[in-house]
Amino acid sequence: MKAAVLRQPGTPLVIEDVAISKPGPREVLIRTLAVGVCHSDLHFIEGTYPFPMPVVLGHEAAGIVEQVGSEVRSVKPGDHVVTCLSAYCGHCEHCVTGHLSLCVSPDTRRGKEDEPRLSEIQSLKPVNQFMNLSSFAEQMLVHENACVSIRKDMPLDRAALLGCAVITGTGAVFNTAKVRPGETVAVIGCGGIGLSTINGAVLAGAGRIIAIDRLDSKLELARRFGATDVINASEGDVVKQVLELTRGGVHHAFECIGLKQTFEQAFGMLARGGSATVIGMIKPGQKIELHGLDILGERRIQGSFMGSNRFPVDMPRLVDFYMQGRLKLDELISQRLKLEHINEAFDELRRGELARSVIVFDQ
Ligand code: ZN
Ligand code: ZN
Repeated sequence: MKAAVLRQPGTPLVIEDVAISKPGPREVLIRTLAVGVCHSDLHFIEGTYPFPMPVVLGHEAAGIVEQVGSEVRSVKPGDHVVTCLSAYCGHCEHCVTGHLSLCVSPDTRRGKEDEPRLSEIQSLKPVNQFMNLSSFAEQMLVHENACVSIRKDMPLDRAALLGCAVITGTGAVFNTAKVRPGETVAVIGCGGIGLSTINGAVLAGAGRIIAIDRLDSKLELARRFGATDVINASEGDVVKQVLELTRGGVHHAFECIGLKQTFEQAFGMLARGGSATVIGMIKPGQKIELHGLDILGERRIQGSFMGSNRFPVDMPRLVDFYMQGRLKLDELISQRLKLEHINEAFDELRRGELARSVIVFDQ
């Protein structure tokens, strides 16, 4: 099968033929139909985060099940599925207490002794699987608990986005922060995740939703997603503006970028008793500075990883929201590209102007 392979950080992806193994007892072989190009893929291409090479990146996908292993019960061939990097084992402490997205059990991966899921055609050397998925490829071989079947009238190019950006943004609102009707929300960064966070806040019934970004084009999009107020971060002190707008701060601030400055801003714009939910990936080694006294006002900070998801439940619900017109996905897709043009999607991402590129495969 064709796949976009990263051989070395800082180099473009190369389309190569890669061998894919057969499903083991609990594995599922999926024909990839669409995959979103996410900012975290770019972090690995640029080497900000280390990962063993060569690797097939991609982690926001949807497709159709081709083959299942002998013990798979949750999906069957022909099912339309969305994948999620939050593969869960189902029996560790995190899983049995309902925190599936925190599972780190190795049970969803193949062991070191086993044949790798992906390998080079000639040398048979392993090609690393990214986040148990490796979606920049015509097929994916995953654990059954890394995908969920969805209704077949859902368009798969839009379904793909649920797999990372949308579950991350909406999940941060529903599961991590538990925003209640009428509460005020600020969202820093209006890319795919930020816009999904805004959409989640609308669904949760938030009162005022303040979108913050440096690009007017993204703020315009934020308004279409339901932001009630927008602030261009390149004009003046963001924290001061939010405190003025809300007369004392927001109940919830969501950081969707992953920078020290925006992290500190998210905390700084909280009302007493408010909570800052940090979604963005902060560089390893980066420290954060806060005024210790602010914590006395019962302000809280929490991380949100993949929207604290229970994706087998969350994703079908998000699909229903989309089908009812309450979850915006069409507006999130700024361009559709073939796998051969995947490097162009990363160029766009570096420029930071578009919401989301989606790679589509021929059916
Ligand atoms: Zn992602
Ligand atoms: Zn587990």
